[in-house]
Amino acid sequence: EAEEADGGAVSYALAKLGMSEILAENIFRPGGGTTLEARIRSWALFSSYLRTLGRGPLNYVCALLRQTDAVSGLLSVLVAHLPTPGRRAKATASPEDVVSLRDVVTNSRYLGEEDYVTRGAAAVYRSLLHLMPASVGSWFTEIKNRQMISDIEKYTSVNETPRLIGLELETISSRGDLEVVALHNKSQVVTRYRKDDSTLELVIKLPGSFPLRPVEVEFTSTFGFGEAVLRKWLLSMRSFLRNQDGTIDDAIYMWYQNVEKQFEGVEECPICYSIIQPSDHTLPKLKCRTCGNKFHSSCMFKWFSQGKATCPMCRSLW
Ligand SMILES: [Zn+2]
Ligand SMILES: [Zn+2]
Repeated sequence: EAEEADGGAVSYALAKLGMSEILAENIFRPGGGTTLEARIRSWALFSSYLRTLGRGPLNYVCALLRQTDAVSGLLSVLVAHLPTPGRRAKATASPEDVVSLRDVVTNSRYLGEEDYVTRGAAAVYRSLLHLMPASVGSWFTEIKNRQMISDIEKYTSVNETPRLIGLELETISSRGDLEVVALHNKSQVVTRYRKDDSTLELVIKLPGSFPLRPVEVEFTSTFGFGEAVLRKWLLSMRSFLRNQDGTIDDAIYMWYQNVEKQFEGVEECPICYSIIQPSDHTLPKLKCRTCGNKFHSSCMFKWFSQGKATCPMCRSLW
């Protein structure tokens, strides 16, 4: 299955993104012959390209990448070369001095091999944190080595988190019945939603090592909404924030659209309990011919790829 997903990502990259074959191979399935320098240069080039994409296409590519182990594989290699506290004595580059992706692509500073890898790793890591925070976060939760966890967390919280939180809070905006306010001094976002006479206030707290550790979501005040619906909304806000790559502002907006769709009477997908799919933002469209329930294509893809062949709800053959 992984093989197939990788193949799909490679052909998408070649056909739709116009990537060269070598670049696609270096990104999606680097072999034993691919040097670390080549991988870092390829990723610097690819990330520069991803930064030019709008929200929709970027989300699509990130969702595609998540079906492969391209990002987690790269991160596991990169972290060994980051100028973390334990390594800094040996490395000549300091983390305060992260070079740009462009510098990594062209090596305009004519860095030696070791310097290039250290600085390139830091630059690519920074861009991944920015472009796909949820993917980096889920890779981080899989790490078993405690020393490594602590090194990466320290490095990230000192060198990357303050900048990232600043960028996140800058993009926060209110829409329709949704008022969103950034509290810069507390690294929090307050969301107020009003519907008729009912109001709801949610606080999103960004942790000190964001986005490695997940954001926290809490209600601070509720008025007029039932307990079941509130619980559902809290879970769906968490899910949008943790499962999608993109900004917090995006996640809040997706959550808002999900709530609005619920008031319009759209039924949620019985697999992920959401109307808007939390990672790829599609609506439930695949309908079971027997029970009539509608599911997201990506939720059904996951279901079928676990070897199942029946409807998750009524168990009839799909
Ligand atoms: Zn679903
Ligand atoms: Zn069914």
